[in-house]
Amino acid sequence: MVLVVLENQRGNIHPFSLEAVAAGQKFAQELNCELSILCIGEKVDELRTQAQNFKSNKLITAQNSLIDMYSADGYSKVLSDVISSMAPKYVLMGHSYMVRDFVPRVSAKLSIPFVSDIISVDFNNGSPLFSKQVFNAKLATNIEVSSNQALLSFQSAAFSSDDIQEGGPDSEEVFDVQLTEQDIRTQSEPEFQESASGVDLTAAELIVSVGRGVESEDNLPTMQSLADAMGAEVASSRPVVDMGWLPPYRQVGSSGQVVSPKLYFSLGISGAIQHVVGMKGSKNILAINKDEDAPIFEIADYAVIGDLLEIVPKLTEEINNSK
Ligand SMILES: Cc1cc2nc3c(=O)[nH]c(=O)nc-3n(C[C@H](O)[C@H](O)[C@H](O)COP(=O)(O)OP(=O)(O)OC[C@H]3O[C@@H](n4cnc5c(N)ncnc54)[C@H](O)[C@@H]3O)c2cc1C
Repeated sequence: MVLVVLENQRGNIHPFSLEAVAAGQKFAQELNCELSILCIGEKVDELRTQAQNFKSNKLITAQNSLIDMYSADGYSKVLSDVISSMAPKYVLMGHSYMVRDFVPRVSAKLSIPFVSDIISVDFNNGSPLFSKQVFNAKLATNIEVSSNQALLSFQSAAFSSDDIQEGGPDSEEVFDVQLTEQDIRTQSEPEFQESASGVDLTAAELIVSVGRGVESEDNLPTMQSLADAMGAEVASSRPVVDMGWLPPYRQVGSSGQVVSPKLYFSLGISGAIQHVVGMKGSKNILAINKDEDAPIFEIADYAVIGDLLEIVPKLTEEINNSK
């Protein structure tokens, strides 16, 4: 059996968890085994209602007032108990901050290996090979697990939520959570809310994203004009935020937001892995960069090699003239 663990993000299933559901369905199909989906902790009823749309063998709910708020102690205890009771071969999750926080504890508690931040899976006739990046994403390596069980987390866009098969669970189960106040030794602060700004980049269909290649804060209005002409939201790489040119909620990447618009228009962004993990799930990526060897071109669907300060004003004019 494979078990997918769902995470809540402000009342919705976290986008990384949706990708883990797609992964779980693929695992079940390739390995010819059952799929269970676990709704745990925060806003568990809302997770359950949404997960009732996904094809699975079993939908499990683990609820207790002591895990209504996330805590690494509470979540690791409950997930460890579920794994001990149900003995899944693989436990699948998105590689979110929460998963990075509590899953190593589960791994240590149960002596089950944790293969984290996987970028792809080769099912290899029933003996999966997991690929992940190493040496600051300069190389990729394959990992084969020799133990009976493994905890797996997937990097954003390793699987696509568009591939989720709908249909609902064959059965539902409420897991008997055994927790006492003594189990919870730490408390987490409330989640950081980017959406307090009123800009939800995660819901934007078109994004114009600005990198250090914009060269000066004075050039930002030119980039904003392109975004306005396209009806797009403006986002950025981290240096642009670090220099104070745009507010933090505009940042895309591992320490910013994870976005998946229909079009991600990258302007003067080199394509460092910390940026790419936040946007590689975009349906189309168009990149302008004056360096033809910029790593962003490895994932771009459309590559324009040139000076954005020359190209962007002309492009904006063309778009406005065509309206
Ligand atoms: C722990 C950690 C977390 C991080 N989190 C994030 C994160 O969440 N998001 C993020 O973005 N980064 C993050 N970073 C930083 C990341 O490693 C890179 O440094 C950053 O993404 C680079 O931003 P950039 O591409 O805008 O700048 P650069 O790497 O400096 O690239 C600028 C690009 O612009 C091009 N260029 C210059 N002038 C022009 C021009 N006139 N026309 C066209 N092209 C031009 C250059 O060829 C170059 O490719 C993080 C780093 C660490 C260590």
